[in-house]
Amino acid sequence: MKAMGFDVITIFPEIFHAYLGESILKRAIQRRLLDVRVYNLRDFTTGKHRTVDDYPYGGGSGMVLKIEPVYNALNSIKGDGAERTVVLLSPQGKTYNQNMAETFSTSSKRILFICGRYEGIDERVRSFVDEEVSIGDYVLTGGELAALVIIDSVSRLMQGVLGDDESAKEESFTWGILDYPHYTRPSEFMGMRVPDILLSGNHKEIWRWRRTEAIRRTLQKRPDLLRKARLNEEDYRILKGLCPDEHKNIQNTHNMEVENE
Ligand code: SAM
Repeated sequence: MKAMGFDVITIFPEIFHAYLGESILKRAIQRRLLDVRVYNLRDFTTGKHRTVDDYPYGGGSGMVLKIEPVYNALNSIKGDGAERTVVLLSPQGKTYNQNMAETFSTSSKRILFICGRYEGIDERVRSFVDEEVSIGDYVLTGGELAALVIIDSVSRLMQGVLGDDESAKEESFTWGILDYPHYTRPSEFMGMRVPDILLSGNHKEIWRWRRTEAIRRTLQKRPDLLRKARLNEEDYRILKGLCPDEHKNIQNTHNMEVENE
């Protein structure tokens, strides 16, 4: 089985040890399906104070991570000759999504994350970077959570990482739509009953119910996804039953896309 490799440059390595030391990712690391190497930026400084940041040129509030330690860290890490994609985590990057997770998970390259802090990183670091990625339109205190979000979402797509490989195949976004509702015991709680169909044992009908509910909730919560989703004949029939108007719009959008291809 192929292992996925990540490198992280950060001034707070402990954050990674805490998250990666639990549950599914911990097991994947123990089974050598994942190889995550975390580097402390301070180890690549030269002065006795191990300074990683400095005041911004031009004035203003906050500190900026210095370029030299980042450059030294990149050179040292790349010394092993392995192929890597260098990713700068930044709110100004391309917005991360499931398609990007899938692309990363099928790449043979290791992914190296540079985690910013404070006001960010010296602008010149961008010249050493292959991709700039944001995990959403909001500003975090540092890139560590963003790196963990990407490590987590890519790792669970790797064969063998999840106990049941099927679980990653039927989730939200996998087919371009949201996941269907899940229930477990008890079958009734405070008057709320699990839908009878799920207790019926009729797997064909259960599958159809799940697909219908997945399409229904995507229609309600994220209609934008349906316009881009990979739908089949059966899905169009379900959609027509749920909302004839939207069905027409979506089919027209898909037909136009096919014509334009
Ligand atoms: N001054 C920067 C700006 O407005 O673009 C924000 C700096 S932020 C406080 C500090 C660091 O957190 C960034 O350098 C980046 O590494 C990380 N970060 C913040 N928001 C992020 C996001 N949405 N996605 C990825 N990384 C983020």
